[in-house]
Order: sequence, then C-alpha cells, then structure tokens
Amino acid sequence: MRSSQLFFPTLREVPSEAEVVSHQLLLRAGFIRKSSGGIYTYLPLAMRVLHKIQQIVREEMDAAGAQEILMPIVQPKELWEKSGRWSAYGDEMFRLSDRHGREFSLGPTHEEVVTDVVDGDVHSYRDLPMILYQIQNKYRDEIRPRFGLMRGREFIMKDAYSFDTDAEGLDQSYEKMRQAYCRIFDRIGLKYRMVDADSGAIGGNNSNEFMVLASSGEDTIIYCDQCHYGANLEKAVCPESPTVEGKSTTKLLELEKIATPGVKTVKDLSDLLGHPESDQIKTLIYLADEELICVLLRGDHELNETKLKNLLGCNLLVMAAESDVRSALGAGFGSLGPVNNPLKIYADNAVQHLVNVGCGANEDGFHFIHVNPGRDFVPYAYADLRNAAPGDPCPCCGRPVGAMRGVEVGHIFKLGEKYSRAMNATYLDQSGKVQYMVMGCYGIGVSRTMAAAVEQNNDAHGMTWPMPITPFQVIIVPVNAKKADQMEVAEQLYHDLENAGLEVLLDDRDERTGVKFKDADLIGIPIRINVGPKGLALGQVELKLRREEEAEMIALPDIVTKVKNLVEAQLKP
Ligand code: ATP
Ligand code: MG
Repeated sequence: MRSSQLFFPTLREVPSEAEVVSHQLLLRAGFIRKSSGGIYTYLPLAMRVLHKIQQIVREEMDAAGAQEILMPIVQPKELWEKSGRWSAYGDEMFRLSDRHGREFSLGPTHEEVVTDVVDGDVHSYRDLPMILYQIQNKYRDEIRPRFGLMRGREFIMKDAYSFDTDAEGLDQSYEKMRQAYCRIFDRIGLKYRMVDADSGAIGGNNSNEFMVLASSGEDTIIYCDQCHYGANLEKAVCPESPTVEGKSTTKLLELEKIATPGVKTVKDLSDLLGHPESDQIKTLIYLADEELICVLLRGDHELNETKLKNLLGCNLLVMAAESDVRSALGAGFGSLGPVNNPLKIYADNAVQHLVNVGCGANEDGFHFIHVNPGRDFVPYAYADLRNAAPGDPCPCCGRPVGAMRGVEVGHIFKLGEKYSRAMNATYLDQSGKVQYMVMGCYGIGVSRTMAAAVEQNNDAHGMTWPMPITPFQVIIVPVNAKKADQMEVAEQLYHDLENAGLEVLLDDRDERTGVKFKDADLIGIPIRINVGPKGLALGQVELKLRREEEAEMIALPDIVTKVKNLVEAQLKP
C-alpha cells in the first residue's frame, strides 16, 4: 500500500474529548472517527488491525471445534420475553418497532437467539456437544459510553455459545474455550491475566474474565504473584474468618454515649477520638428492592456492592435516601450505627473481630464508644461484604495480595440451564428422556481489544503495535520523494518486501521528512526503513525499529532477509 492512496487523516492536536491514551491515539492517528456518543466509524488502518484480531480469534475458535454462524442483530421481543430479559435488561437495550408496531431489540447479546436456533433443530444427545460462535456488532445503550472504543454503544464482539448434555460436558467445553482464549491473547501479544469473575445470580465459580493490564482499565484486579490467584475486585475473597475464634481477650469496656458535634465521617470520629479508622464501625443504609437494610464494615474497609447484592439476591440495590433513613432511624448520615437499630443488619466478617470501637448513636451529634458486637448489637448475618485491598492475605496461600487495573477483554461463563429451562431447550437422552441442554457463553470484545492493545503499546510519539496485529509490518520512507534515485530504491524495496510476503506501506507522499517520520511513529509501524542520500552513497538503507532509539545501517542486498527475520521472530507468541 502507498501512503498517498491510504485514507489516514492524522491530527496534530490531542482531541479534547479523549481522556485515555487509546482514544486519543486512535483519533489522532486516523484509525477511527466518532459518529455519535459511543458510536464510531473504523477507518482503513483500524480495519487492518480488526481483521487480524478477528483472524486469530477465528483460527482459535475453529481449532477448538466451534462453528461460525451469523445471527440477526434485530431480535424479536417475544424471544426476550421467554427468557424474562425483555424487562430485566432495562435501559441498556436499544429497542425499536416495525411498521406494524411489532417490537424488537438491537442485540446486546445473543443467548436468546442462539438457544432458539439450537432448540429448533437439535433434538438428540447425538447432536451434542456443539459450540457456535459469531463475530458481529453488538448494541448496548451504556449509561456512560466513554474512552472511545473501550465502552461503546455499538461495538464488535465475538460471542460463542456451548450446548452440552450435562455439567461434565459443560466443564469440558468451558475448558476448551478457556484454553482457546489464552492462545488468542498470547498470539495477539498482550499482557493479560485470567481472573475469577462474579457470576451474579447464577453464583458459584462459574466465570472467568481476561484482563489486559493497563492503568486506565475500569476494573481492579486482586492478584497474588506467589500462587497465581487472581480475581476481579468484585469477586476477590476476603480472608477474615466468619467465626470469633481467636477473638481478642481485651477486656470489654462499658458502652458510653458521647457528644460529637460536627462529626460526619469515620475519619472525623477517628480524629476526635485519636483512634485509627479500623477502630470504628462504618454504617451504611441501602434500599434493597423495597426494604431498607443496614450494612456494617470496619471503618477502614470499603463495601463491595456486588457481594452484598449476591448475598441478598435482590434486583435493585441503591444507597437509601437520607429522608428515608431519618424516618427509620431518627438520625441522618454521619450519626448512624447498629446499636438499637431496628433494620436487618448485615455485617462484614471483619466486624465480628472488633472490640471497644466507635459508631454512630442514631441521634444527630452523638456517637457510642466501647461498642462490642454480640453484646451491644447482633447482626442478622455476617458475610464477606468488603473489597479486598492490597496487602490482605491471599485467600489461597496467605501471602500479601496486590492490586492493579485491567481492561476486561474477554469473559467466559457457565450458564448451566438458565436459558434452556426458560426457553424450554431440550434434547432426548440415551434412554429417550427429555433433558435440558447445559449451556456456556464466551465473549471477546474485539474492538475493545484493539483499544486495550493501544493502551498497552504506546509512547510519547504514538502507537507501538505488537507485530501480530499491526496494520502494516514495515514502512519505507524515502527521505525526499522528489529524488529519483531514492524513489527508485524505495519502489524496488517495496516490491521485494511484498514479494517476500510482508505487509508494507510505502510513504510516497511529497511531504517533509519530519512529517513522514512523525506519521510513521504515530501510526506505530514496528519496522521503518529510511532511504536517504547518505546511505545510498554507500549502498545502504537505515533500519529503525519503532520501539528502539537507535537506527542501524544495512546493506541493500541484506535488507529483505533482515526484515523478514525480524517480522517472523516477532510473530511468535
Ligand atoms: P463490562 O463489565 O465491561 O460492561 P460486560 O460484562 O457487560 O462488560 P459481556 O457481556 O461479558 O461484557 O461482553 C463480552 C465482552 O464484550 C466483554 O468482555 C468486553 O470485552 C466486551 N464489551 C462489553 N461491553 C462493551 C462495550 N460497551 N464496548 C466495547 N466492548 C464491550
Ligand atoms: Mg456491561
């Protein structure tokens, strides 16, 4: 390809709406253009990257025995009513109606459609197991589309669905997909971790996420380098035992109420009493579906809403309004506590180990000190309700865990019979008995993976693509396109490198050298060959690797082999 023929409208300025580096660079380097919030056009350079990611995904899905299909984006309401998700999906679903007033969704995911397809044509255990996949646009009216391709409202996903006769079969399909996912992200050339993920209402250890490590990631990963434990913060298990064994033998002091004017937070109370925040109880009031509930944490701990929601099994979980709290407890935020509290109290396991601590007195401007769980209040339940934090002991091996940020690029999930029961997807087993199919689903955010790759591969000058997904492998830059001898050598090289099977961009534009070098760096081509007068006088060209500072002079007869070897070495995972 010649740069003069390539549509890559680069920008000098960093677009103001772009907060993260992948969004900035994808706009600046002319990969994408915004159409509306969270909806983008992919320009030619982006298409080349997306095709490569999709190719790797296809090869690994096919190798794992999955079969490619393409399902409709427009999906009838009736299917979603069968699964119960027409209403449960809520505002994130784009909805439309046809000229007859029939309602449809723009597919945010395809469990309903795929289950319907398989149910229609698969009737016997002999037809199972089966894994189907597709690569397609998905539509989700995200509450906060942001970070460019990271959280779009229209985005490209690979979604796969497995159908098995029983749970053991599902375990095998899941394991196949897990291994395929590892190969995919290894081959793409990204630093990632597979972590335990929350599986919501279905529960159990039924879900893993693939996280590309990047500081701009929206997710937090808790990990242990000693034993390879890794979990999404939402899911990471906290170490406190729920029993009081080993509880401190400190003498319990008498409960005392003290005036605390102006104290609104755990920190205020800590400052006033001169005790650490870990010696206070943090009291939160939530509205769970229709019911007000009270949640207790050690003062220095954070609530994990996912854990609370899973414990309660509720649909809606929001912080209670202060007016509701006041009518229930007689005090406002900042003075709340568990003593004489009529609400159902759910306490984090760590609270059980507290002795002689402080908390609100359910009276504005007053707190209790020397509060002791068990004596002064008895929670309805103790559970693991807090966020794990760096330094906590690893739930597997006990060494301190770390925390880092990640971008979720893949998610694999054991669905079990959730959809097959709701949609009555059955088969006849060996004895002719009707059984529900056992399902799994497996997603990769293809467009998000491109953005995540940029998050992980960039420097002050632009992108630095990993070889397996770079839009071009080599760029040839004649220093002065007006000079016939330079253009002649550049054209010959272009020809030879393409014949050697490489993907080459020839910058044949009549631009200043500086502009051409800047553009080559911005779009991040891993290998650049500069054809200039000094080198040519000696029969040489300059070889410059995007990720290295120094360039190297190479004799013309050696350059093709040299470049080919470099490319091949970097294509290996
Ligand atoms: P998230 O928690 O980021 O919203 P999700 O759990 O809703 O993701 P899935 O339904 O599991 O995502 O979708 C499979 C994959 O699709 C995700 O792992 C992610 O890579 C990608 N994906 C999900 N939502 C978006 C989006 N709004 N924009 C781009 N990619 C997305
Ligand atoms: Mg989502």
